[in-house]
Amino acid sequence: MATVHPFPNQSVRALVHSVIQMYAAGKWTRQQMMSQVHDTLRQYGISRLNINNYNVRIVEPVITSAGVFPVVIIEGGEVSASIGCPACHSREAGYLAGDSTVTVMCRSCGCIYQFRERKEGLK
Ligand SMILES: [Zn+2]
Repeated sequence: MATVHPFPNQSVRALVHSVIQMYAAGKWTRQQMMSQVHDTLRQYGISRLNINNYNVRIVEPVITSAGVFPVVIIEGGEVSASIGCPACHSREAGYLAGDSTVTVMCRSCGCIYQFRERKEGLK
């Protein structure tokens, strides 16, 4: 018999968003953030959630002798460089790939996103 999960409403998005802000502000560790987002999404039986202009997605966990560690990817679409990270609004990002459209990873929250303007946005 299929499990019926509650519908992930706006308060779930607000919770996940605030967890990412806590991590970006250095108040939570990356693993605390990923575990909380993972557990929250799993409560609703989902592996992906759209939050405003970015997504969180559960991927394969890291399995070590110390335990199983959930892994969550934060992905934004293409943004204006003046906005910065779509998840935490940090302007500090590390280059990953690309030329005319640059793919970067936010240094504060780990969100992967793209932008076109090359002059600003990177430090
Ligand atoms: Zn960020």
